[in-house]
Amino acid sequence: MSLSQLARSISESPTLKLNEIAARLREKGEPVIHLGGGEPKTKAPIDAILNCTALLNTAEVRYSPADGIPALKKAIIRYTEEHYGRLVAPENVIASSGAKQSIMVALHAIIDPKDEVIFPVPYWVSYPEMVKIAGGVPIAVTAQDGGFQPTVQEIADSIGSYTKAIILNSPNNPSGAMYSRDFVAEIVQICEKRNIWLIMDDTYNRLVFDGRAPVNCYDFTDRDIESSKLIVVNCVSKMYAMTGFRLGWAVAGRELVRAMTNIQSQETSGPATPSQWAAVGALNGIQSSIDSLRMTLENNRNIMYARLQAIPGVQVTKPAGTFYCFPDFSAYEKSSQKLASLLLEKVRVVVVPGKEFGMEGRVRMSYCGTIKEIRQGIERIQWAIDPNSPNELFLGGRKLVRDWV
Ligand code: PMP
Repeated sequence: MSLSQLARSISESPTLKLNEIAARLREKGEPVIHLGGGEPKTKAPIDAILNCTALLNTAEVRYSPADGIPALKKAIIRYTEEHYGRLVAPENVIASSGAKQSIMVALHAIIDPKDEVIFPVPYWVSYPEMVKIAGGVPIAVTAQDGGFQPTVQEIADSIGSYTKAIILNSPNNPSGAMYSRDFVAEIVQICEKRNIWLIMDDTYNRLVFDGRAPVNCYDFTDRDIESSKLIVVNCVSKMYAMTGFRLGWAVAGRELVRAMTNIQSQETSGPATPSQWAAVGALNGIQSSIDSLRMTLENNRNIMYARLQAIPGVQVTKPAGTFYCFPDFSAYEKSSQKLASLLLEKVRVVVVPGKEFGMEGRVRMSYCGTIKEIRQGIERIQWAIDPNSPNELFLGGRKLVRDWV
């Protein structure tokens, strides 16, 4: 079969692949604990469901404008004013099928062949592949201190004549780290000075803990939205637990939004209208679900953090937000892929290898499931890797004997 060079260069999303493996094992009755997932288990807000079903009940589900229905744009404008302090026009807003598509059409709209896009390590698994799909070159910047946030200097040193954009995702998938205000401020300034786009992937920015407030990138620019280099991306997926609705959006200057809309109109047309109406309900409705999700996640984070800290040799940084933790298991196994395979094969715990996010020796563990899953999952992991734990474990009625460490 002759596949394109592009098709041959793009790998499957490792997180989606793990979801599939976990589902297949569960179907076979295996006692899988999925700590690899990327979606909250709470229900979508009732206002989202009511709005969506109201449209479905008309049995008239039609195309929408390529950049979204007016009611959704209005809701996004209100959200932007409330959470970013910026009053934008409908022409500054594009609704897409998930934050993923907003980022993808933004990249398509700004990248020429060989243009470079910079992002810090660890990074969301899709950034390198999305940049490649757009014809660009991904440049991942690793912090020399081994931490989760490169210095501004390290980012600046990676900028060259081909640099077209920087992507920041804070709080960060997979580390849960939040970039400091000073860091974001300086990157905004650099982008403006060097005429580089800054894609702020704010997918998780309402899910922050310990009384932290989301960092608002517009605080660091005097430019109006039309001359701004900022492309701010959000979605209903995580904060409203609405991953399956596939609804995200971007806010940027109108010239760029027009270009993104043209691309989206040829690729997919507007997002599914039931999802758009659901998002209108979520954004305009009662907002308490975000607070309750955040509190649940913060509690889960505390449990996962404490349990991981208790495993000798595991290095773990307390996540500031998201629902991911990114502990270092290199004292036990340096290859994150080997570790993830061992955990899945031996104790049926799903984690995502850190290598996929640009950092070896670590695995991404989600705490968006139940407390029971977190506790049992970590118990099983400790049993699998720690030679000092008892030699036997009962798993789904089966006795396991550890013969690998
Ligand atoms: N950005 C980040 C950092 C993510 O983790 C995800 C989802 N895993 C997305 C974007 C995509 O969000 P959506 O599901 O709305 O496309």
